Formats: sequence, C-alpha cells, structure tokens
Amino acid sequence: MVVCHNVQKDYGSNKVLRGVDLTVKRGEVVVLLGPSGSGKSTFLRTINHLEPVDWGTITVGGEFVGYEPVAGGQPRPTGRLARARARARLSMVFQHFNLFNHLTALENVMEAPVRVFGVPQAQARETALRLLAAVGLQNHVNHLPHRLSGGQQQRVAIARALATSPRVMLFDEPTSALDPELVGEVLTVMRKLAEAGMTMIVVTHEIRFAREVADRVVFMDGGVVVEEGTPEAVIDNPRQERTQRFLRAVS
Ligand code: ADP
Ligand code: MG
Repeated sequence: MVVCHNVQKDYGSNKVLRGVDLTVKRGEVVVLLGPSGSGKSTFLRTINHLEPVDWGTITVGGEFVGYEPVAGGQPRPTGRLARARARARLSMVFQHFNLFNHLTALENVMEAPVRVFGVPQAQARETALRLLAAVGLQNHVNHLPHRLSGGQQQRVAIARALATSPRVMLFDEPTSALDPELVGEVLTVMRKLAEAGMTMIVVTHEIRFAREVADRVVFMDGGVVVEEGTPEAVIDNPRQERTQRFLRAVS
C-alpha cells in the first residue's frame, strides 16, 4: 500500500532523512518510534507530499507521490493528477488536532468531502454523523472545538480524516498533546480502526499501544531506519544499542 525507497531530505546542511526504506502492506499497522529530531514527522510529511523529497520514491496504492524514477538519473516530479490521486488515498492526524475553530464538530468533518471532493451536503452530513458516532461523539456534533476536551477534539480530527475514505491513515504523535487521562479514549479509537483493517502508520511514544496494536515496529534514528520487526523483536528484544537506549528512556 505504501512503498518508500531511499527517501532523502535535507534542510540546508541538515540531512534529516538519509535514505529511508519502508514498505507497508494493506491492513498493516506500523508504529514508528524514535527520539525527537530523528526525522519521523518529516518522513510522514513526505509520504503525504506535504514535503517534497530530494531523492528517492514513494508510492501509495501503486501511485507515485511527488517523484517517479528515471533510469540512472534524478527522479522527476510526477504530474499534478497523479499526485492528487495518491494524496487522496491518505489522511493525516496531527499532534495539535488542527481543527477549524469556527466550525462545529460536524462541519469540521463535512468540510473536505464537500469543498474538496464535491460530495453533496446531505450525503456528507450522513457520513459525518456516522463517523462522529463511531468515535463516540454522537452527542457533541454541534459543539465548537473550544467546548470539547483535547481527547474529544482529537477524535473529531480522526473522524474528519476518515471522511475522505482514505486507504492509509498517518498519525503523528496523536496523543502527545493530551492530558494523560484523555490519552486512552484516543488510543481506543485508533485500536478499533486497526481492528477494522485500516492501513496505518503511527508515530507515537505509547509503547504499550505499539506492543498491543502494531504488526510491525520501526525504530528510526538520525534519519535512517535502525531496526524493524515485530513488537516482540523490537520492543522486548531490541538488537541495536540505539534502540535499547531509546526504550530505556521512554519506558
Ligand atoms: P521528529 O518528528 O522525529 O522529532 P522532525 O522530522 O520533526 O523529527 O525533525 C527532524 C529534523 O529536521 C530536526 O533537526 C528538525 O529541526 C529539522 N526540521 C524539521 N522540519 C524542518 C523545517 N521545516 N525546516 C528546517 N528544519 C526542519
Ligand atoms: Mg515529530
């Protein structure tokens, strides 16, 4: 579903991604771990083409995002249509929810389907109500974000991300900005999504979630994948010293 090959990205002299390879199969849940500054967010943004890459290729559902390979040469930019098709298959959930503050929960979820994809209002509304119920917010659909807790806002953000029927969901530390008592409700929603077969790439420091929900754990440091494997392998029996040190620090 997602194939990243030799993805490289610099910010000036800062080599942030130094050749990242990652393959995510349909229905797979991959948890991406790594210290702050290791390039996790940048990597997710390149998959979503919020950030252009300097080298390497990314495909989503077989469609090249951003760049396509050229035999023996620098990858060249893909056409706008191919890019739009690839991006339409992805949705991203951010640490800081990024809801529209002047719109209700329901309006937030309806926004992209109506404005970007041209879905009729009535149909978008029906879908949005179903999604808000699925994340446990059927009684809050007309609330503005400031009347919702952080956990509720993040669940609205997840419903909004689902409203465009993505084939892949990207999560960038979705619970890091939440008070501890609100983390569980968001992880529960994510766990249900995983059980329903959604393909997910999740950046998180929630080691327990990784152990219980991930099919595969990928540990990144310094812009490369240092180690990857099952949760048992990477979390419980890490082979690389850098992975061991990170896990000692977060658990
Ligand atoms: P992580 O999510 O693992 O904490 P990031 O991908 O956010 O790591 O950052 C990796 C490195 O890239 C850091 O050194 C950060 O300062 C740098 N970086 C991230 N975004 C930008 C940007 N837009 N411009 C310049 N440097 C950036
Ligand atoms: Mg980050």
